[in-house]
Amino acid sequence: MNNQGRPTATDTAPPRAAKKTFTTNRALQLEEPLIFEHGRPDVTGVDLDEPETFASRLGGLEREETIGLPGLSEPEALRHYVRLSQKNYSIDAGIYPLGSCTMKHNPRINEAMARLPGFADIHPLQPQSTVQGALELIDTLAHWLMEMTGTHAVAMPPKAGAHGELCGLMAIRAAIDARGEASTRKIVLAPDSAHGTNPATAAMVGFSVRSIPAGADGVVAVESVRAALGPDVAAIMLTNPNTCGLFERDIVQIAEAVREAGGYFYCDGANFNALMGKARPGDLGVDAMHINLHKTFSTPHGGGGPGAGPVVLSERLAPFAPVPFVVRNNDAYALREQASGQSFGRMTAFHGQMGMFVRALSFMLSHGSDGLRQASEDAVLNANYIRAGLADILSSPFGDRPCMHEVLFDDKWLDGTGLTMLDIAKALIDEGFHPMTMYFPLVVHGAMLIEPTESESLASLNLFIATVRDVAFRIQRGETEAFHAAPIFAPRQRLDETRAARNPVLRWTARKPIRG
Ligand SMILES: *Cc1c(COP(=O)(O)O)cnc(C)c1O
Repeated sequence: MNNQGRPTATDTAPPRAAKKTFTTNRALQLEEPLIFEHGRPDVTGVDLDEPETFASRLGGLEREETIGLPGLSEPEALRHYVRLSQKNYSIDAGIYPLGSCTMKHNPRINEAMARLPGFADIHPLQPQSTVQGALELIDTLAHWLMEMTGTHAVAMPPKAGAHGELCGLMAIRAAIDARGEASTRKIVLAPDSAHGTNPATAAMVGFSVRSIPAGADGVVAVESVRAALGPDVAAIMLTNPNTCGLFERDIVQIAEAVREAGGYFYCDGANFNALMGKARPGDLGVDAMHINLHKTFSTPHGGGGPGAGPVVLSERLAPFAPVPFVVRNNDAYALREQASGQSFGRMTAFHGQMGMFVRALSFMLSHGSDGLRQASEDAVLNANYIRAGLADILSSPFGDRPCMHEVLFDDKWLDGTGLTMLDIAKALIDEGFHPMTMYFPLVVHGAMLIEPTESESLASLNLFIATVRDVAFRIQRGETEAFHAAPIFAPRQRLDETRAARNPVLRWTARKPIRG
């Protein structure tokens, strides 16, 4: 600062407390009020004739107050939604290193295919003779999913990974019922490191969860599974590669032990992107596994949907698959709609997420078998490149050994600094990076889980590594104070998370409209 208190060209440090502007905008990052605070309830954006007077037939039930809809002109409405869309950080804007989420590029060829009118403009209640191409596409995708996983059947309806878990466990419950063991087999085994959806799904289907510990090396040992097995166990739910980014070394012996004990092996296949083209879960002894098309096969993760979580099934679970499914009679495709035999029934209104199916098949066919294998290899290579680039400066819970598609660090390197992983994540926001996954898996203290996917270039990985190293060097030099306030460049600064949790404001209440 010079002595007038004005910034000079030599002031490179950002102002500690963000200065307010008159408009509350921050440079070209524009504030955007809610549409109800924006528009004027007494005007309309379109030019309508006054309605003719008419005799009300509502018998005195007419509204007396205005409905309160905001009136905006076309440019105002357009700007509102464009500004909202710009607030969303996305994989199309930059690296999205969220571990376990597999945020990869969605090639635009997928979008072009999904927009073909024959796929985009059809209705699930159309006569089947008019949607033969769509049914063929579902059948072809189902074929490749079984081929890649070495399994016998696939249920296409589930609309997310968690929904796929539900489907798989419902098939397992039906199989156990059919054996007359519904009253004895009530337990599902799941490791401590499981994604929260695993125990939640088991509980939803009516099972109790028995937790199995992972070893000091981050994987589940077959001995721990054997110790937990018994005539009361219906199934095990195991993620492979697991949520620590490690391949479950004993998976084949675990599958055998579970089968010998009369249980089923549900594999959480959300991380199939590390295996596709390399290993087939069916060969490892898996009975049921969901595949997140929106992770492995690139279709977008919407805000809570659309996703698609088809479940592949082994020979012994195939008879219990839900309806509907596509069957082929000579040259015609049909949907088998009625549950017969041992099928557990229907779990969704229609047959799945058509748009996601088109995108996933487009991804598969445009990559080819060699391309899919390379995508797995590149995803694993990229994660290991980040691991190698940060191993000397961060701390790793399971020693410095290779990972699969994601790399896990813990917070030992922050000991004595007064900082937590949250501060690191917020500092990365200031640097223009969406933070990595934090505090998951729960088995690792202060977990930091990074998944670059195959989408990132060497330059992009190098910039990410250099940025995290710079953060770590600043901490090593004792420059920790600034971290507590991060992010300082974001339109919203550090939130009071305790207050938000203790005193959540869950309803919008009308304020005075901003304009008008
Ligand atoms: C993403 C994920 C899920 C859940 O998938 P959704 O499609 O989000 O329901 C389950 N398990 C693991 C390991 C995951 O990464």
